Amino acid sequence: MLPSILKLKCPKCHEGDLFVHKGSYRIKGFFDMPKNCPKCGQDFEIETGFYFGAMYVSYGLTIAISVAVFTVLIVFDSYSLELFLLAEFLVLLALLPYVIRVSRAIWIAIIVKYDAKAIEKWKVKNIK
Ligand SMILES: [Zn+2]
Repeated sequence: MLPSILKLKCPKCHEGDLFVHKGSYRIKGFFDMPKNCPKCGQDFEIETGFYFGAMYVSYGLTIAISVAVFTVLIVFDSYSLELFLLAEFLVLLALLPYVIRVSRAIWIAIIVKYDAKAIEKWKVKNIK
């Protein structure tokens, strides 16, 4: 499950892409998601405002990143408030687009369960 989240794949089949464009650092169409999974047909817009909940996930990830930056500074014995705030700002800025996307991937993976036969079922359904 974790690799599919990190690679931003469909939670149901772990193969279809969650986002239209692969690069997290592309400005235009950065948030664009297909309506359905191209491989298994899973609905990616489960309800209006579905990804609002992903904000809580991204908040949690931001806290985790902050703790990681803090820990690295402590481990290398180079902690100072100014350095921490600067490092924190740069790391969060660099990771922000990926954090937002991965938050959506985590959020949908909480709701949609993996189904090993999802693609097969989708094909059978569309042949009939
Ligand atoms: Zn899928």
